[in-house]
Amino acid sequence: MDEPLVYAIPLRNRFRGITVREGVLLRGPAGWGEFCPFADYDDRESAPWLEAALEAAHRGWPAPVRRRVEVNTTVPVVEPEKAHRMVAESGCRTAKVKVADPRTSIQDDCERVAAVRDALGPRGAVRVDANAAWDVDTAVAAIRELDRAANGLEYVEQPCPSIEELAAVRKKVEVRVAADESIRRAEDPLKVAVAGAADVAVIKVAPLGGVRRALEVAEACGLPCVVSSAVETSVGLAAGLALAGALPELDFACGLGTMSLLVKDISSRTLSPVDGYLPVLTAAPEPDLAHEHAADEVTTRAWLERLKRVGG
Ligand SMILES: [Mg+2]
Repeated sequence: MDEPLVYAIPLRNRFRGITVREGVLLRGPAGWGEFCPFADYDDRESAPWLEAALEAAHRGWPAPVRRRVEVNTTVPVVEPEKAHRMVAESGCRTAKVKVADPRTSIQDDCERVAAVRDALGPRGAVRVDANAAWDVDTAVAAIRELDRAANGLEYVEQPCPSIEELAAVRKKVEVRVAADESIRRAEDPLKVAVAGAADVAVIKVAPLGGVRRALEVAEACGLPCVVSSAVETSVGLAAGLALAGALPELDFACGLGTMSLLVKDISSRTLSPVDGYLPVLTAAPEPDLAHEHAADEVTTRAWLERLKRVGG
């Protein structure tokens, strides 16, 4: 299995407009790496994703300082009863609730958030993610209502699109603000920190160009970090866990419990959370599962060409 493996695995629900996750698994002397930039990323934007995959395959990662990483469960836009059930069944102590969906109202969001708080109990943590949907005034009003409904929010993720808007919201609300979409490149976390735009940075290994680079970025920006996935297979999730495992401080649950978004994995030792935690470990595709999820010929050729182009 030393040739790159191109996979195509269906998602349980549509995500970023896609229904199948695709990518390439690369093997090197240090292990396996995953190269899976989204389809709308150009070659320049995909370059750090390749650096991250090559780091995993050829260098491996710095030694972890912890063996396991707490993860959050994610609650999509569903009825309050279903949200309650999902959180209770997840075993996680932290839940991230998607809000500000155009098909629903702030009342719906508040009811869902209240149901999630009920399921977690007073010691759990409720965070919300608005995915840049609000303007400043709407964000300020919505965050106050959601904070009340949640009996205290841990933080609000990306309430508005721009860094300037995040900074304006942060001045007006008590709830912590986390930047996610504002952090797409290695220089972005520094901009967010300098602008006073966030209390927390959501960082991902692949867009930052690998675990080492992400550690440098985390240190330079000086913000508490939450490590999130890019909805990879276990091979890519292992890189996120390596980063979360190596960060000197980790005060918040990470967004690495995303394996359940894919219908299946390339490893039978799949990285699904147990009691809200994932172990820091490496992952490798198993031949039969790699075969089962191998992309068709056209897709395979397209990815191998992309790999070559991005690699220059
Ligand atoms: Mg987010």
